[in-house]
Amino acid sequence: MLKLFNTLSKKIEDFNPLTSEQVGLYTCGPTVYDFMHIGNLRTFLFSDTLYRVLSANGYKVKFIQNITDIDDKIIKKAKEENIPLSEITNKYTKFYFEDLKKLNITPADVYPKATEHVGKMAKYIEKLVEKGLAYVEEDGSVYFDISKFEDYGKLSGVEGRTLKTGTRILSRAARELRSSDEYNKDNIQDFALWKAVEADEKVGYDSPWGRGRPGWHIECSVMSQEYLGDTFDIHAGGVDLIFPHHENEIAQSEGYTGKKFVNFFLHGEHILVNGAKMSKSLKNFYTLKDLEKKGSDPMAYRYLVLTAHYRDKLNFTWESLQAASNALNKLREEIRGWPNVILNANKGSQDLDSSPLWGPSAQNDNYYQRFLDVLNNDLNTPQALAVLHEMISSNSPISNKAKSLLEMDKVLGLKLDEYLGKKLEIPERVKKLVEEREDARKQGNFEKSDELRKKIIELGFEIKDTPKGPKIT
Ligand code: AMP
Ligand code: ZN
Repeated sequence: MLKLFNTLSKKIEDFNPLTSEQVGLYTCGPTVYDFMHIGNLRTFLFSDTLYRVLSANGYKVKFIQNITDIDDKIIKKAKEENIPLSEITNKYTKFYFEDLKKLNITPADVYPKATEHVGKMAKYIEKLVEKGLAYVEEDGSVYFDISKFEDYGKLSGVEGRTLKTGTRILSRAARELRSSDEYNKDNIQDFALWKAVEADEKVGYDSPWGRGRPGWHIECSVMSQEYLGDTFDIHAGGVDLIFPHHENEIAQSEGYTGKKFVNFFLHGEHILVNGAKMSKSLKNFYTLKDLEKKGSDPMAYRYLVLTAHYRDKLNFTWESLQAASNALNKLREEIRGWPNVILNANKGSQDLDSSPLWGPSAQNDNYYQRFLDVLNNDLNTPQALAVLHEMISSNSPISNKAKSLLEMDKVLGLKLDEYLGKKLEIPERVKKLVEEREDARKQGNFEKSDELRKKIIELGFEIKDTPKGPKIT
């Protein structure tokens, strides 16, 4: 039985889907104005693990992730660079998809874009106004009145009802904050559904309230419900989205439909650097490209993320990334050494079953079941890795181990099938570079040896200096 921690109840609950046909999953996606940092990517790795664990339990998942391609930060950048919004958003959406591919993150079924749903958002807002949950300001901006939504605060625990809000005189600073998409728990307030813009402003849409553009929160209510229905199973994101983003989504959606919005809210913890949240504003971030430039394999980052539970903070250090890379390489080396017959297994477990060379069925040892059990306990990936390692070093028949390994990797997504039973073939070109590097090292030319090392890494090999000489993996 799959159990998940639900931020709504603050408890681990049994997961029961709304219908037997499929599970609806929505994860808040990227704001495409810059490269994602590895903190953002941890959140997407967490929702990928969730997706894979649901699949391993036999559920068919409909997975939707929005692309925020209109927002204050994007508009600011477009103005600074004097280019159309779409030039920025297309560029960074492309980079985002590249990162997902490198990290072997399962693609969503649909990636709806905010700019393609503005008409629907305006209609949705109109209904919220009709229902008395939102009010229109003189300038044509529309705000959600949180005092009108009884359950405001049920996700984050903030006290929304106690505040007297509505059309009252606000200071300039308070006005600016109210129309901003991002604020924190010190500013519990009405929030913008529609932001009026000047008539000559390039980025804007016509609406019943004049020219303007939607706020950030409304896009997720409209697009999740458009693709998954009024009520759906799971909504995921990083912990910073609990308030205000998801609290506001609940207010909009439940206010609009009068029904429960989402059964399970799941939130992943942050990546930290020296104890502080990795973020663009603190400039303490790394991108996946930064990791690759240092010679790191994106799969090593995936492995590192799996070593921590998704609800625990993870402090990123280069040493921890190196340790993850070492552990992954050791694993790869081990399974390369498994007999060649395992090559057949790379096509999937069916080939294994039909091969007469295989030993008793993998079900005879219960490693896979234990692996799934720990994952079913609120996605405990560190324990799942421990079971995998225990299985690898056990003396079960290799055939069984190979079979379990491939099944486990469907959830871990470490692309281990690319290594299983495949002896390392080192191309002549790489061998030559290794020799040249050795010569350079002997002559004390470390600059050259570092350069050659980089070339070797670029060709997909790692080099380790051991007392017996360099070792290529
Ligand atoms: P954004 O593009 O800023 O909307 O962020 C995309 C996702 O990354 C959201 O789900 C955020 O909660 C998440 N996120 C932002 N910073 C971090 C971090 N340091 N660690 C983990 N997730 C993060
Ligand atoms: Zn969202």
